[in-house]
Amino acid sequence: MEGVAREIRLVARPTGFPGEDLFEVAETPIPDPGEGQLLVRNAYFSVDPYMRPRMNDVRSYVAPFTLGEAMTGGAVGRVEVSRNPAFAEGDWVLHALGWREWALSDGSGVRKIDPVGAPVSTSLGVLGMPGFTAYYGLFEIGRPEDGQTVFVSGAAGAVGSAAGQMAKIAGCRVLGSAGTEDKLAWLRELGFDAAFNYRERSAREGLADAAPDGIDIYFDNVGGDHLEAAIGAMRMNGRIVACGSISRYNDAEPVAGPRNLFMVVTKRLRMQGYIISDHYDRFPEFLARAQEWVRDGRLRYRETVIDGIENAPSAFLGLLRGENVGKMLVKVGPDE
Ligand code: NDP
Repeated sequence: MEGVAREIRLVARPTGFPGEDLFEVAETPIPDPGEGQLLVRNAYFSVDPYMRPRMNDVRSYVAPFTLGEAMTGGAVGRVEVSRNPAFAEGDWVLHALGWREWALSDGSGVRKIDPVGAPVSTSLGVLGMPGFTAYYGLFEIGRPEDGQTVFVSGAAGAVGSAAGQMAKIAGCRVLGSAGTEDKLAWLRELGFDAAFNYRERSAREGLADAAPDGIDIYFDNVGGDHLEAAIGAMRMNGRIVACGSISRYNDAEPVAGPRNLFMVVTKRLRMQGYIISDHYDRFPEFLARAQEWVRDGRLRYRETVIDGIENAPSAFLGLLRGENVGKMLVKVGPDE
């Protein structure tokens, strides 16, 4: 196939909050698939909070991004050419080859998606990794019971908005925190029972007002002062779903943790972290249930879509600043 394929490469590592100068748009010829390979034209790729720690030169649960190479991550696209018998031209697929307009693959780690039941973009959001993260964390670790109180931080994001609605489905009273008034209005539309803006009042004050009798489950997307406030507000035998710590991802140095950690002991709390990629054996179960909830309107979603691959760095930095409502995506090709 003739033409130019653009991709976004990481060219330097950040200290503190990253800048657009760490990224570069590179142009290569559209690749020709060899025997066993397929060529995908991407429609969307995902920018995610976990990408910020991966930019550091530190081995964590995944290797750091390689300098000079395209950023990897979730993407959906249409197979344009296939020389792999498992895929046909016109198939819609999800893959992990990231921030590029065209992706060449041997088929490993590529999964076909249904382009009919829901927009293909949802396979990167509510019906994909973020929705699954909410599902597994809430039900497997949080174990909500009818009538309990659940607090979700980062509640208007991809994971948080799904976790809060799933807690409503489980019959819980649900509280959320987010960083703008628009986001709070959306949380009320979604059925959250109360929500506060953590940029206007502390998480401790917000929780004291919204949950004077305490909380049973804290779904933690944020860490930092939110985690400390939630530990303070937990009831006896409460559960903390340690999903993420976005308030800490741009710290140049680690900071001290919650000052009230001893309450984990005195209140007999359970706090458990997880990495969703360990649990994909549960994905089909999640997908079947989430598709049904989306169909019957109990699980709603929003997407913030930034157009054009050249705008991917600013979409990613915007995600870290809270400019997204729901899932943040970059659109780089046709999705019909
Ligand atoms: P979101 O869609 O929630 O986007 C990130 C949001 O974080 C922003 O919109 C912003 O909203 C909020 N935020 C940014 N800085 C701060 C801050 N200092 N304090 C409080 N909120 C902040 O992203 P995701 O839904 O994709 O991810 C949510 C969390 O889940 C992240 O911590 C992520 O790392 C984690 N995660 C964990 C996984 C796992 O396997 N454990 C898998 C996937 C995600 P606002 O305007 O409200 O500030």
